[in-house]
Amino acid sequence: MNRVSKLESFILTVPRDEPYLGALRKGEEPNERGYFVRKGNKTVYPTVDRSVLVRVETESGVVGWGETYGLVAPKATTAIIGDLLADFVVGRDPFEASAIHDDLYNLMRVRGYTGGFYLDALGAVDIALWDAAGRVAGKPIYELLGGRKQEKVPGYVSGLPKRTLKDRADFAKEWLDRGFDSFKFAAPVADEGIVREMEGLREALGSEARISSDMHWAHTPDEAIAAIREMEPYGLWFAEAPVATEDVKGLGKVAQSVDTPIGVGEEWRTLYEAQLRYDANAVNIVQPEMGHTGITEFVRIARAAHDRGIGILPHATIGSGIFLAASLQASFALEGVIGHEYQHSIVERNHNLITKGIGCSDGLYFLSDTGGLGIEPTDDMISRLEKQHA
Ligand code: MG
Repeated sequence: MNRVSKLESFILTVPRDEPYLGALRKGEEPNERGYFVRKGNKTVYPTVDRSVLVRVETESGVVGWGETYGLVAPKATTAIIGDLLADFVVGRDPFEASAIHDDLYNLMRVRGYTGGFYLDALGAVDIALWDAAGRVAGKPIYELLGGRKQEKVPGYVSGLPKRTLKDRADFAKEWLDRGFDSFKFAAPVADEGIVREMEGLREALGSEARISSDMHWAHTPDEAIAAIREMEPYGLWFAEAPVATEDVKGLGKVAQSVDTPIGVGEEWRTLYEAQLRYDANAVNIVQPEMGHTGITEFVRIARAAHDRGIGILPHATIGSGIFLAASLQASFALEGVIGHEYQHSIVERNHNLITKGIGCSDGLYFLSDTGGLGIEPTDDMISRLEKQHA
């Protein structure tokens, strides 16, 4: 057996020329620690890209990498990993990644640590273990998950970080010309309003393109229903995150009141959170985020969705490419995956952080079939890692 002999965590910081979601609006100036709040969704962002990485090593020297969110207060996550989780993972077999995940979850469940930073830490550890297992076996993770179920995973273009609607529409058109037929715009930076944004993008992209609206949890159920109905004449592909994440009943009301499919799930970490919404008939498309779920919960959330006829359209957030690679490995191995978000502004800018095992061109994702995640951190990434201590 090839047991885990070492587990370390790191913070990866990558500077940005322009903040995520584009130029800052008035009143969005960063504070001394580099955090600013988007007025459109009341959410805090850093001015840099940042994530938390986990590196496991086995007795025979095989290395696995994992990654989770580190945008805000990353040391909260690395403290959980270093102070608590590492000692419970060392000595275990990486092929038991899902059992290890459940054991780690059980350590803190009665205290109510069933989400947030704790589960982010578990997610990073889980991905690193799956990567190590794949490398030990010499197989890509999609094979460990039962083999390839998807021939193609189309990417949809997400984020049009330009200052005006005209510029955003022109920019989307460039991606259309590059072979992408599906798009999503972000409501918090749709300065002329989401209905006008929808109309402007439809004019630019033509009748065939699929256009969705990320509503960033900003509406009451009734407001969301009204806004979606106003966008529907322009052909709305799906409406994402229309109401506050806690409002399960309200989400159900929205889903049952409009013709447009409702997409949600990027903020969940576990099947438990998904199941509550599935049971409320509140979800048409689930958008699991590998950076929060790890492979184990991602697969559980997706399989439960598929059993209920819910489409799977994984989310892609700010990261180095490690959890994106994990997300693609799982997506190719699952039934019911209808596509995957493509954050071009992150993937293309961070292309020097990992080897070219994954990517998206002509509207389709590709991944490598080498062992584990199919990517390697480059020297550039390694040089940016800040090692954390327990
Ligand atoms: Mg979103």
